[in-house]
Amino acid sequence: MILCSNPLAQFKAYQDEIETAVLRVMRSNRYILGTEVEKLEKEFAKYIGTSHAIGVGNGTDAIEIALRALEIGMGDEVITVSHTAVATVAAIEAVGAIPVLVDIDPEFFTLNPSQLPDVLSEKTKAVISVHLYGQPAEMNKIQLFCEEHSLALIEDVSQAHGARWRGKKLGSIGDIACFSCYPTKNLGAIGDAGLMTTNRDDLAKKVKGLRTYGWVNNNYISEFPGRNSRLDELQAAILRVKLKHLDKCNDNRERIANHYRSELSKVIGLELPKVRSEVKHVYHQFVVQSNIRNELLHFLQAKGVLAGIHYPEPVHLQAAYKGKIKCHNDMSITEEVKSKILSLPIYPELETKALNKVTELIRSFF
Ligand SMILES: *Cc1c(COP(=O)(O)O)cnc(C)c1O
Repeated sequence: MILCSNPLAQFKAYQDEIETAVLRVMRSNRYILGTEVEKLEKEFAKYIGTSHAIGVGNGTDAIEIALRALEIGMGDEVITVSHTAVATVAAIEAVGAIPVLVDIDPEFFTLNPSQLPDVLSEKTKAVISVHLYGQPAEMNKIQLFCEEHSLALIEDVSQAHGARWRGKKLGSIGDIACFSCYPTKNLGAIGDAGLMTTNRDDLAKKVKGLRTYGWVNNNYISEFPGRNSRLDELQAAILRVKLKHLDKCNDNRERIANHYRSELSKVIGLELPKVRSEVKHVYHQFVVQSNIRNELLHFLQAKGVLAGIHYPEPVHLQAAYKGKIKCHNDMSITEEVKSKILSLPIYPELETKALNKVTELIRSFF
């Protein structure tokens, strides 16, 4: 069986280091928001190149907390894409704001900036730019639009830890950025975890308060309404180990992607993912397209290769959101790709033998 992602393989690759870190925490008598979290926050801020990093409970909480820190709530509108993890939209909903969804561009699967002016209203407060599959969104145009209209720019970097847009690490470009550390993500915990980065002191302070019921200067004294979204020491200690290896892991993902490209570029009927110029793509997913996607998916499954679909249904067409959110009237690319996309197995520890099996099967299918 060849899995699409494989957090166990990563645990095995760094087992000694991870077990040492876990034992250290268990013996420490400090289990929540302690020295491991503080050290991780310093190390992650340095890695991304921001003045602050803050650990939270998970990636969805991170987006919700970013919106609250920016004082976005009831009745405000937040623009993002429909072709994303439902979490991006669920977080907007959680603060009482209205998700306004736009289409993606046909080449790179990220937010189509040319649709932004069409959905702008007096209620628009922010844009959430999702760096999907490990590839940066078109940040120049999005940033310019946000500046022109005084909108906050939130980066959803949950699939792109370590990626770069023209030399800058993702997570250092917008007002604030959110990272999920769900086990299968490029930087994954062994459980739920999330991180946020920002260069704004005011937002960092607010975020730290929001994750602990609004406590800022004194424990037990809430200065504003907050919630519990703490990061625990075990996950922080594990993430500190994984962070040390992140660049190497991302390079491995890129190597696997290049292998797919060289073996599959001549296959007729299969479209390979495109990369923007001047970026570092970190290949959270390697997403190909085919008009006979379902047949290919079932063929691979029958041979023990578990490819995935990210995502099978755009958010604006899901029962929870259909008719309840705002949406650009042209969502044609989002609606078209859902039946063509297929995520091939990709994770840093994927072995060459398994990789060759996948490419050979795909070639034999076509
Ligand atoms: C995984 C993911 C999230 C949600 O993160 P959780 O940690 O699962 O809450 C949000 N946005 C995107 C793009 C994601 O891939």
